[in-house]
Amino acid sequence: MTNPDVIVIGAGAAGLGAARRLAAARIAVRVIEARNRVGGRAWTAHAPSGLPIELGCAWLHSADENELCALALQNGLTIDKTRPPWRTQMNDVGFAVEDVLSLHDDAINTWGGTHGIRDRGLLESAAGAATNVALYDEAANIYDVAAAYAYQVAQNQPFLDGNKRAGVAAAAAFLFVNGIDLLDQEEDGESVLAKAMIDVAERRHSDPRRAFAAVLRRPSTAR
Ligand SMILES: Cc1cc2nc3c(=O)[nH]c(=O)nc-3n(C[C@H](O)[C@H](O)[C@H](O)COP(=O)(O)OP(=O)(O)OC[C@H]3O[C@@H](n4cnc5c(N)ncnc54)[C@H](O)[C@@H]3O)c2cc1C
Repeated sequence: MTNPDVIVIGAGAAGLGAARRLAAARIAVRVIEARNRVGGRAWTAHAPSGLPIELGCAWLHSADENELCALALQNGLTIDKTRPPWRTQMNDVGFAVEDVLSLHDDAINTWGGTHGIRDRGLLESAAGAATNVALYDEAANIYDVAAAYAYQVAQNQPFLDGNKRAGVAAAAAFLFVNGIDLLDQEEDGESVLAKAMIDVAERRHSDPRRAFAAVLRRPSTAR
């Protein structure tokens, strides 16, 4: 094209979007880009293994009205609709041991059993382990941290009784203070959470914490 009607400077999202609109309106357009690639600040690099790495934008903000969503689908791409992590509060990670003690008391009052603590150190260790997951496991999401409370309390057995119940109560409370209501479901007349907690305590999974996190995620809803 030697004599375009419009010249667009820059082949980023804005420039390419403008050029597409102009071309669709049958207006002769030329895009001039200073770099040796298009995309501007949207750039997917690839590791030697082929793993895609976003060096620029990655999230489709306002996806219900973002024109890039329709374009992505038209081009056969899959849109990951997972909630972005910034909607959940990851910094409110710690329960004081007293909080877990009172959660245990509530659990015993609600579901029955024996009150009393067997080893406070084991309870401190359980609470600390969950905080560690939040602070040092970079792949952890909110459900992994909640699951860590449940798993560690069930494993450490700091209470005389009701350790699994206290674990589930701690996980539910942790999700609650972070804006998520944990909803239980029944399968074959059995509580899904209770069954999953027993599986965790009896180590029926190779990675019990992650397995429980998956169960927590399923029936939960953000407020
Ligand atoms: C690290 C990072 C993360 C981001 N994350 C997100 C995100 O998750 N979600 C989101 O929506 N947004 C995100 N953004 C912002 C998003 O990438 C930009 O808003 C968007 O790409 C801007 O598009 P643009 O076309 O306006 O500008 P650009 O992408 O900057 O494109 C401008 C183009 O013009 C070219 N150019 C400039 N001057 C000239 C010239 N004189 N002659 C020729 N060419 C020229 C440049 O080389 C460039 O290619 C992120 C940005 C960065 C850097």
